[in-house]
Amino acid sequence: MIPYGRQHISQQDIDAVVEVLKSDFLTQGPAVPAFEQRLCDLTTAQYTIAVNSATSALHIACLALGVGPGSRVWTSPVSFVASANCARYCGASVDFVDVEPDTGNMAIDQLRQKLEQARTSDTLPQVVIPVHLAGASCDMQQIHYLANEFGFKVIEDASHAVGASYQDEPVGCCRYSDITVFSFHPVKIITTAEGGAALTNSSELADKMRLLRSHGISRDENLMTEPSHGAWYYQQLQLGLNYRMTDIQAALGFSQSQRLLPIIKQRQVLADRYQTLLQNLTVGLPEPDTSVISSWHLYIIRLDDKTRRKAVFDGLRAAGIGVNVHYIPIHTQPYYQQLGFDWGDFPQAEDFYERIISLPMFPELSSEQQQFIADKLKELLA
Ligand SMILES: *Cc1c(COP(=O)(O)O)cnc(C)c1O
Repeated sequence: MIPYGRQHISQQDIDAVVEVLKSDFLTQGPAVPAFEQRLCDLTTAQYTIAVNSATSALHIACLALGVGPGSRVWTSPVSFVASANCARYCGASVDFVDVEPDTGNMAIDQLRQKLEQARTSDTLPQVVIPVHLAGASCDMQQIHYLANEFGFKVIEDASHAVGASYQDEPVGCCRYSDITVFSFHPVKIITTAEGGAALTNSSELADKMRLLRSHGISRDENLMTEPSHGAWYYQQLQLGLNYRMTDIQAALGFSQSQRLLPIIKQRQVLADRYQTLLQNLTVGLPEPDTSVISSWHLYIIRLDDKTRRKAVFDGLRAAGIGVNVHYIPIHTQPYYQQLGFDWGDFPQAEDFYERIISLPMFPELSSEQQQFIADKLKELLA
């Protein structure tokens, strides 16, 4: 089976991990700060807090922005469930903003409309979490304008978009957001096995997230409520979590990050080749806006005739092609249905869901494999 995504592990990655295993620290050593600095260098963000998953990063990002019971958080229904669950962990309520039919990203006109309605009913959100589907940035400048106008904070869920850019700046620079979140799960652009990070330009948010990452414990005397008792002393200042990344993971991430540019270039080559191979088929192909350079985490095609999606999907799988669907709209999950959402609530997200197939996309996918995938697809659509 050709998988839809697959990590690439080099000898250098293996050596980097082995080196940590032989060192003094498996966790809380020098590899995590080195990886954090590397992510700051790659994105120009001032602060990076590396954690054990993007889900954890989304959770502490929400907490740092003051999300709690009574808060409202909006995100995209076309995402992995973690984009919404982070608000629920904080006791907040979640709502969704419908998406653009071609990109599956949060639609700016829908966001504006929903904000105007929410203003009249005094139910504006505290935080909006746009998701850069497949690695193509949302229109962050527009979202930023709306954030200023309506007074909400912005967390970019850039789990797919490590190495991508928007308006000639790296995703993660946080020009138009308070916090940006990356995932380093093996199917994503670079991996730490499990892992994620929260990036920000705010020292205050960075301090809050660092505390939350490790039990709410600090050794900083300036934060203590009484003089230090000695070198062993620490204080727990609030209820934090254990969301730390290990040094083993960070060393893998650092080593992987050294190949980020060639990985993005190769994914672009694969996307261009799909574009050429598939252009005459009855499917919509992803075409990111000119302001966007996608990381091409996913290559999502949209069938003109959605009644054929299941047959085409099954046919591709039967041919050994590990296609997938990203995503089942979050609001249709039983957990969210129990909270009052239902089919029909976000028609563009649902229509998108019913048409899409994610084709295999990972750096080692060969041109022969792409040709095979294109031929099969053509045959199944005929
Ligand atoms: C993968 C993913 C996450 C969660 O990432 P983990 O690192 O597995 O916790 C969150 N949001 C989106 C959009 C994702 O694709």
